[in-house]
Amino acid sequence: MIDFGEIVKSSRLYNFHSHTQFCDGRATMEQFVVAAIGQGFTHYGFTPHSPVPIASPCNMKAEDVPAYLAEFSRLKALYGHRINLCLSMEIDYLGPQWGASSSYFSTVPLDYRLSSVHFIPSMVDSGEMVDVDGNFLSFRKKMETYFGNDIEAVVRSFYAQSIAMIEAGGLDVVGHFDKIGHNAGHFSEGIEQEPWYIELVERTFEAIMDHHLIIEVNTKALRDHGRTFPNQRFYYLLKRYHAPLLINSDAHYPELINAGREETMSLLATALPPK
Ligand SMILES: [Zn+2]
Ligand SMILES: [Zn+2]
Repeated sequence: MIDFGEIVKSSRLYNFHSHTQFCDGRATMEQFVVAAIGQGFTHYGFTPHSPVPIASPCNMKAEDVPAYLAEFSRLKALYGHRINLCLSMEIDYLGPQWGASSSYFSTVPLDYRLSSVHFIPSMVDSGEMVDVDGNFLSFRKKMETYFGNDIEAVVRSFYAQSIAMIEAGGLDVVGHFDKIGHNAGHFSEGIEQEPWYIELVERTFEAIMDHHLIIEVNTKALRDHGRTFPNQRFYYLLKRYHAPLLINSDAHYPELINAGREETMSLLATALPPK
């Protein structure tokens, strides 16, 4: 496994969460590598949305995985002396039937495993998995169609899935662990300040720590929405547990590989006590 602790100590320019032509990213892997080298990055990890056994336009198809592995090998041979390239996936957790601990992922030679929850089960039918990670307009429609507009139930389901993902294992890094807070906060303003919500975040955070996993501080929404994942209001948990963390941009565009990093480092520095 990659020694993330050492990397974070010695480098400010790394990114272990990004999307390319193999899923919903907007440029080729090579364009990301060139951008990362151009900005002096020491490490760059690719995390296409993993194959999933359900229909999902954002996820890579299992039949494209060999091409992904081949392209990674080509780029590593070409650029590996200038930057440390790492092969990974953002593995979706769908439930006991699919996640980072599924045998499928032991057949792919990943350098590390990032895992995230984007889907939760529908509450109005047989439990079809519904993507709650999209933009707010789409989320609001789904709230009506699949969840009877019960935002508390959706939030509880998201964190229950997250804890189940953590307990199922097979992952190294937890991606944007309070991401539901963004759409839920638009749906119901102030929800992230409600005691029951905070308790769910704390419980999930404790599960991450109990399983010795790395927490991602995801900067994707900082520029447009003024928040990271976890929300800055939960940085006290990072402090309380001395949590091992990675600052990742979750970039879908090469020009955004470093977006929000310096700002997030400043936010963390003011939230954390000096060493
Ligand atoms: Zn994600
Ligand atoms: Zn992502």
